[in-house]
Amino acid sequence: MPPIAPLSPALARRLQEIVGPDNLIENGDSLVSLSRDFYWYSPVLRRQLDEKVAAAAVRVSTLEELQRTVAACWREKVPIVARGSGTGNYGQAVPLCGGVVIDMSRFDRILSLSSDGVVRAQPGARMGTIEAEARKAGWEFRCLPSTWVKSTLGGFICGGFGGIGSITWGPIAASGNVKSVTVLSCEENPRLLRFEEGDCRPALHAYGTTGILVEIEMRLAPRSDYAQLAFSSPRWDALLDWTDDTARNPAWHKRLVSQFEWPVPRFFKPLSRFFREDAHVTFVLVEEASADAVIASAVEAGIEEVFRSGLADPAKAPLLTDYTWNHTTLWAMKADPAYTYLQCGYGPDFRGQIESLRRRFPREILINLDWIAHQVKPGSEASGRIVGDPIRVGGLPLVPFISEPRLVEIMDYAASIGIRVGNPHVFTLEGGGDPDLPAKSRLKADLDPTGLLNPGKMATHPVNPFR
Ligand code: FAD
Repeated sequence: MPPIAPLSPALARRLQEIVGPDNLIENGDSLVSLSRDFYWYSPVLRRQLDEKVAAAAVRVSTLEELQRTVAACWREKVPIVARGSGTGNYGQAVPLCGGVVIDMSRFDRILSLSSDGVVRAQPGARMGTIEAEARKAGWEFRCLPSTWVKSTLGGFICGGFGGIGSITWGPIAASGNVKSVTVLSCEENPRLLRFEEGDCRPALHAYGTTGILVEIEMRLAPRSDYAQLAFSSPRWDALLDWTDDTARNPAWHKRLVSQFEWPVPRFFKPLSRFFREDAHVTFVLVEEASADAVIASAVEAGIEEVFRSGLADPAKAPLLTDYTWNHTTLWAMKADPAYTYLQCGYGPDFRGQIESLRRRFPREILINLDWIAHQVKPGSEASGRIVGDPIRVGGLPLVPFISEPRLVEIMDYAASIGIRVGNPHVFTLEGGGDPDLPAKSRLKADLDPTGLLNPGKMATHPVNPFR
């Protein structure tokens, strides 16, 4: 990587003029924390990214400030990294080449919430804030990351995948979820481009390498009232069968289905009094009206209900969502910092694949699973009973970190038995095996021809020599 240079006095002065002296941060702890995200989940990324710090951070509040900041940086060919709340866990928001981090978290207005359930917002708006406003108006997000309280909409679109709600609506990129994005290019005179529906895809999950999002329209789901349920059984296979049936039952409208192998539930300290030693646990968020039926089916299958609580508005702890998706890794690392994680998408024979992993790496790999739909079943939206289809099983298995070659060995084995593996220990887009990469690369060439946006994160585009 090229050496990291401080800002030129001329650029520092220019940025101060644009955002005001209080919103230009050139040193200190604030600059370090604005240069970091949750990359430390991975011991491999920790080693690679610990020393990376921007030359400066700029807090923008308006589109005009953003446009002028980008143009000023472009003129001096200074790298730019947009940043939301910095909860990404692959170092997406960590500046590899110094330059300027643009903190978008004050560019955060909810611009409109239409009567047909479309929210239009600036990228720095927090998802928790939008969700609260949407629920007041009878809507809710189709999918949220488990960091939804803190994370920004722009950060989720550019760095996230899916999460709570994806059991019904699929991931962010599933057709219909994102209605439009408006993107700012990085050029002498930055352009605004609006992409709609499928044309948005190259701009999604691009780590801010293909332009800076300035406005987003998301389709919402009709609001539901949910019961938070937890179930437990010492019999892994029986619990897995019941959880999978529950996830696939089209009669029950769900927002979350997750299963954890013991001792993972023991890591969930605030909830641990609800769990039994040696018993595996399933979490379900289901429409309140169906909760009794879900519990009855569990009892019939010999599965014990161990927790039930409604989801208040605004949501209050305990929130089961705080333990699912990548929050599971956080709780494991709190209990034992030696843990790290992998990313697995299982196939139709997920039972066999999981069993093979557990047999091959006994006492090393701990399974946790999240059920997810590929998309909404065609026609089900119009019928009023929305059904995710096809339902798949994914998860973020926990492993104690021994060495990078050992992680590779486990991932190679998983891939050899047909598991789709995304490597969470790399900071480039290519690491996740993104199918849209050629389109993203073309978009980058158009909107960031000088290669200044988050350089080094799209491996197919060389890092711009920093001057
Ligand atoms: P940041 O981390 O600030 O940014 C993410 C990426 O987006 C960066 O590359 C940044 O450069 C880019 N970016 C930000 N704003 C813009 C913009 N306006 N224009 C262009 N690029 C931009 N992810 C999930 O998908 N699902 C989960 O359930 C989930 N659970 C998590 C649990 C934990 C405990 C942690 C630590 C992470 C989890 N994540 C999850 C990852 C992350 O929290 C989410 O993706 C989150 O939505 C990121 O939002 P953010 O505002 O923190 O983005």
